[in-house]
Amino acid sequence: MTVVPFVDLKAQFAAIENEARAAIDRVLASQRLILGPEVESLEREIAAYSACAHAIGVSSGTDALLVSLMALGVGPGDEVITTAYSFFATAGVIVRLGAKPVFADIEPATFNMDPALAAAAVTPRTKAIVPVHLYGQCAEMDPILDVASAHGLGVVEDAAQAIGATYKDRPAGSLGDIGCFSFFPTKNLGALGDGGMVVTNDRALAERIGCLRQHGASPKFHHPLVGGNFRLDAIQAAVLGVKLKYLNGWTGGRRLNADLYDKKLAAAGLPESVLRIPQVRQTRHVYHQYVIRARRRDALGEHLRQQGIGCGIYYPLPLHLQECFAALGYQAGDMPVAEAAAGESLALPMYPELSVDQIDTVVAAVTGFLGDGG
Ligand SMILES: *Cc1c(COP(=O)(O)O)cnc(C)c1O
Repeated sequence: MTVVPFVDLKAQFAAIENEARAAIDRVLASQRLILGPEVESLEREIAAYSACAHAIGVSSGTDALLVSLMALGVGPGDEVITTAYSFFATAGVIVRLGAKPVFADIEPATFNMDPALAAAAVTPRTKAIVPVHLYGQCAEMDPILDVASAHGLGVVEDAAQAIGATYKDRPAGSLGDIGCFSFFPTKNLGALGDGGMVVTNDRALAERIGCLRQHGASPKFHHPLVGGNFRLDAIQAAVLGVKLKYLNGWTGGRRLNADLYDKKLAAAGLPESVLRIPQVRQTRHVYHQYVIRARRRDALGEHLRQQGIGCGIYYPLPLHLQECFAALGYQAGDMPVAEAAAGESLALPMYPELSVDQIDTVVAAVTGFLGDGG
């Protein structure tokens, strides 16, 4: 019996079903299925939402990152500094371009890239920095931007989890040279399949990314660049346009639920060595995930699942220890903070539709288990 599912996409779809079906019907009637007016309209809306002059709809968050690094000219011989603790795509795109990911360990409080370690990782071969706004909280961007401007490096924000987040009142995606969003169905703004968006204030980069998105063609059948097929479907854009109107309300729901979790978990009075609730620093956190750190995390996760409560681990293995990156030469112990996070972090159910009863159920199960010496 599932008491509290980890994610609940059906609840959200029920609330917008009629509007979504009308938007899909509009695309079916037009038979403009790839790019076209639906995608252009979403691009204008996401650009405005992120306080950026340009937005380019793409096929996924992964392709958003890939095409952004391509536009910056990242290739063989280059190094790209990124965090050791993220979804695989953040580092995978660097390696796919023939460049070398150089990992920086994270800050223990926020799970985000430690700016001092990123600064220390700069070499003459460094071309770009890819900070990740993990779980919906912006990385500590000002010192990262300072390092980038001191060394002439590009900054690509992996904002896949952070649409709507802000850092010192500036929106995620507008902080670096290029920002990347994912519309994977479980992200805060999710499509009915894969999708993504690139935002930037740099017109030349926007033109380059638009060109790379269609095999580097400009004009059609003439290729100044080698790009790929990174296009966004019109059906996805039409549905995303419907959902975007609700995003601020949904984000408000996530933030309210996070606040309830914070207060109710803290009320149990467990020591930090047993349970740590998320720390927030000078950002508007949009809680793509609500991640606690817990003693005996695996046993706690098992206990929750037995009670019918969903939970997840983001991420059980840091990037520098992935098998496919063995040739980079990293060892266990190289990124102690990320490695500790991989052993202790547990994501609890988090979505706008979560009820107070469900939150109470989760909190009781977590604090009951940990309070009993779990
Ligand atoms: C989801 C995600 C991506 C990849 O996005 P897709 O749309 O699934 O390709 C990249 N980075 C992070 C941090 C993500 O969470």
